Amino acid sequence: MTVLIAGGGIGGLTTALMLHQRGIDCEVFERSTEIKELGVGINTLPHAIKELAELGLLEALDAVGIRTLELIYQNRLGQVIWQEPRGLHAGLDFPQFSIHRGKLQRVLHEAVLGRLGNAAVHTGCEVVGFEQNKDQAILQIKERGSDRHREVSGSAIIACDGIHSVIRQSFHPGEGPPTWNGIMLWRGATEWEPFLTGESMVISGGMDAKLVLYPISREVTDSSKVLMNWAVGAKIGDAKAQPPRREDWNREGQMSELLPFVEDKFSLDVLDPLALIRGTEVFYEYPMCDRDPLTRWSRGRVTLLGDAAHPMYPVGSNGASQAILDARSLSDCLATNTNIVEALKAYEVERLPVTSEIVHTNRSGGPERVIDVVNQRAPDGFDDLHDVASAEELEAIVKGYSQLAGFNEDKVNAEKQ
Ligand SMILES: Cc1cc2nc3c(=O)[nH]c(=O)nc-3n(C[C@H](O)[C@H](O)[C@H](O)COP(=O)(O)OP(=O)(O)OC[C@H]3O[C@@H](n4cnc5c(N)ncnc54)[C@H](O)[C@@H]3O)c2cc1C
Repeated sequence: MTVLIAGGGIGGLTTALMLHQRGIDCEVFERSTEIKELGVGINTLPHAIKELAELGLLEALDAVGIRTLELIYQNRLGQVIWQEPRGLHAGLDFPQFSIHRGKLQRVLHEAVLGRLGNAAVHTGCEVVGFEQNKDQAILQIKERGSDRHREVSGSAIIACDGIHSVIRQSFHPGEGPPTWNGIMLWRGATEWEPFLTGESMVISGGMDAKLVLYPISREVTDSSKVLMNWAVGAKIGDAKAQPPRREDWNREGQMSELLPFVEDKFSLDVLDPLALIRGTEVFYEYPMCDRDPLTRWSRGRVTLLGDAAHPMYPVGSNGASQAILDARSLSDCLATNTNIVEALKAYEVERLPVTSEIVHTNRSGGPERVIDVVNQRAPDGFDDLHDVASAEELEAIVKGYSQLAGFNEDKVNAEKQ
């Protein structure tokens, strides 16, 4: 069996490592001519880290990321709404990581090259289509920088080509672009003094904007600092309208568009967001987009994985984490089922329902809804949080989400074998 993987992002590279671990041959076809360290910070949840640990990557992750110790939700005045330990500190057997997306991708890429060999990753290969028959699946590729087209055949195709997946598009030609909820997300990272434990993640929110802060690396020029990741999300348009610019994770943001959502909006103990943002040389914008969940991912010898299958709003730290869980499920199904078509179907049955529910839950704010609930009732802050929302109400939102996303204690620890 040879599996053809379209896309060398987090999902595609993890799939390659997991298939290789199970003795299944595979090759990755990536559009970019070089796998560069793109993006800024992401959080990877403990159940996904468990999978990467089983691939032997924990040490490599520790070298480039930061284990997230706690998560704090607060209002724009820095009043704490919810605070909880994360990863090992929450009694789980695996940590959560705050990490630069590009560095996570590099860790995976280096592992793929080291284990599968350089010939397993084909860069500069844009997937433009596919065909299949009862015996094989054929990937149609255009080589970047030339007009050369070629075809590669294998036993199955896994589409890991992200939110603009061409393979998903050929399954659903009428689907159109991703839908935007009117929120723009600006993201950046710069060297800054650590706050609280030095491994804390803080999400602060007012009615106008939410601000996410967490350190992602200790690899900095000034050893008293960390690489501090920040993101600001603010509503700038109508839900269902087209975003002002096409969604592209690499599009640079404009300071003049962002500042009105930060100036005089936050008063935090942990740091001065305005100074942090002004001190960031380059930052990026990304309209918060997703797509409606599909009813099918697999057709014959071809299936979808990660953002190609279930693009979701980047709340609740689930984008990369769910792609990693997909990779585990898919590899197990292919390793334990000699019929490829049935294996891809079994993967879909396991992963489609849960990821669809996460897409829907993220639309209503995911766990960050605790901030919205409190802000709606007490926009100017509170003397006693419990006059505004009960501990039970807040717990139901946050714990309900971790249960849904699958990183609660019972699941992570029980599944370790
Ligand atoms: C450049 C970039 C920066 C990002 N930055 C952030 C961030 O800062 N924060 C965040 O939360 N999420 C970010 N994401 C998204 C995040 O990585 C994903 O949500 C998550 O990791 C799921 O991974 P995925 O592999 O399914 O998709 P992706 O990580 O999007 O990977 C898709 C891969 O497929 C490749 N590809 C696309 N089309 C084709 C094609 N036709 N042929 C061959 N290859 C193709 C892309 O170049 C990419 O390498 C970023 C994604 C990208 C591509």
